[in-house]
Amino acid sequence: GLTIGVLTLQGGFDKHMQTLEKLGVNPVKVREAGELNAIDGLIIPGGESTTIIRLLRNFGIYDRLREKILQGLPVFGTCAGMILLSRGIDSHPEQETLGLMDYRVSRNDYGRQIDSFDAKLIIKGLGDDPVPAVFIRAPRITEIGSTAEVLSEYEDSPVLVRQGHMLAASFHPELTEDIRVHKLFLSMIEG
Ligand code: GLN
Repeated sequence: GLTIGVLTLQGGFDKHMQTLEKLGVNPVKVREAGELNAIDGLIIPGGESTTIIRLLRNFGIYDRLREKILQGLPVFGTCAGMILLSRGIDSHPEQETLGLMDYRVSRNDYGRQIDSFDAKLIIKGLGDDPVPAVFIRAPRITEIGSTAEVLSEYEDSPVLVRQGHMLAASFHPELTEDIRVHKLFLSMIEG
């Protein structure tokens, strides 16, 4: 079976681990650079992207993580994870990212008035049955390059994007009972 790491520096990693278990995968916590060597893929969860990037720097994981992903480690970033994978941030304050995927984001841009909401998404490759999605102070993609493939849109902006071995979601697929988006990530690894 696959061993999938979940970055557990900060944020909502527990639900990701539970979803992976449901899929018969062995989830492991990743907090140190060395732990990146023992995994087949990595999930960067939601949380506070400002905090996660600071901890990546403070714990000396930033460079190794970036290098591993550039070398082909499959990665799935949700919400704050999508922010970290982005090429850059259009909202203020400016903030460092990993600069790996070909899109830019504006933070906390969906549901400004209500903080969080549910939506139903049609996702390319997952058929006509809509996937429930939870948005929590979610990033909006403001600009996207042609190397990134849009798998789903909401309110005219991409909310699920794939670029080779990298996947990013504005929403939280781990907060519903629907496991199809995680399955999609695993299929990219087994693929
Ligand atoms: N608003 C958070 C950020 O900008 C992301 C929110 C989330 O991950 N649920 O980091």
